Amino acid sequence: MSEQYERALVTGGCGFVGSHLCEQLLDAGTAVLALDNFATSTPANVARLLDRPGFELIQHDVTEQLPTLGCFDVVFHLASAASPAAYLRLPIETLRAGALGTANALELAERNRARFVLASTSEVYGDPAVHPQPEGYWGHVNPVGPRSVYDEAKRYAEALTMAFRRERGVNTGIARIFNTYGPYMRTDDGRMVPNFIAQALSGAPITIAGTGEQTRSLCYVDDTGRGLLALASTDHPGPVNIGNPHEISVRGLAEEIRSVTGSTSPVQYVDGAIDDPKRRCPDISLARRELGWWPVVTRAEGLRRTIDWFIGRRAVAAEESLR
Ligand code: NAD
Ligand code: UDP
Repeated sequence: MSEQYERALVTGGCGFVGSHLCEQLLDAGTAVLALDNFATSTPANVARLLDRPGFELIQHDVTEQLPTLGCFDVVFHLASAASPAAYLRLPIETLRAGALGTANALELAERNRARFVLASTSEVYGDPAVHPQPEGYWGHVNPVGPRSVYDEAKRYAEALTMAFRRERGVNTGIARIFNTYGPYMRTDDGRMVPNFIAQALSGAPITIAGTGEQTRSLCYVDDTGRGLLALASTDHPGPVNIGNPHEISVRGLAEEIRSVTGSTSPVQYVDGAIDDPKRRCPDISLARRELGWWPVVTRAEGLRRTIDWFIGRRAVAAEESLR
């Protein structure tokens, strides 16, 4: 586990997954430097960590030459837009983060002889023709569609990571993360979980894209963070799927969130996204076998914790608006 590490670099450390990973590393006694350019986050996302011993934050774009940052024994490379709304808004930045950002992070790991973990994604499988998706499946990606800026950036990042491993002996690991949710997702993040919760709590229409028959498999963020730490603690190259294999349709999730929040929000069907994957579910046998990892937080429990956090966040925002 991460106790073996003294100091970690987390690129994208202010983001949703990154902030939880930083917290888990600190809990395990690892000092953490979070590097972020706040492209899709704000420093407020790690306000809870700023006073913790061993935590540092630096504002920097990972695609630019890295300043002197000190020594690390593990590098987690998470810096990249991740929400479809964000990467469609930041197409070239997203490609640069996957290409130049990954190269910079790998070179830093090489100089430090550090373990390197790439936060890749289930999007490398595209709109999959194989279901559930094992790591051996090469995917079905439209290389020139709007989503390609993310899918191909991550596929390139995986290829670059393997090249650094083969040619330069860097100790790399690739995690293919499936849809992750939890507290500290931005309300305006654009992904379905924060959208549906924010809409349900405010009484606004719940926007289902397309038919709502498309599926996803949701992993609670603590489980995803444990998966990344489990991969870091081995020398396994991956790619290894990190996700929760309990699949649900988008419409089913909207109904669940409506029911848990007691919302009367109507459902509104909107245009489906281009190249939207129709089914997505991880085969996690490799993670179970090689990392001894599997998710433990049920969707009922994870949604309850996430919804409670969003309710608290709305209360704080309402108080602030009165000041
Ligand atoms: P997020 O948008 O909340 O976090 C990404 C962070 O990276 C943000 O803080 C952003 O400001 C930062 N960033 C972006 N470009 C940067 C750059 N050039 N330099 C420095 N910082 C930069 O997204 P997230 O959900 O936390 O995702 C984190 C990582 O996990 C991403 O690499 C994403 O591809 C991967 N991932 C996430 C999910 C998920 O469901 N959350 C699924 C698959 C993969
Ligand atoms: N989606 C939706 N309504 C929303 C946001 C997303 O129906 O307000 C759909 C989206 O079209 C996709 C699924 O929910 O089919 C998951 O989208 P998300 O943006 O969360 O992540 P993705 O898995 O596509 O990266």
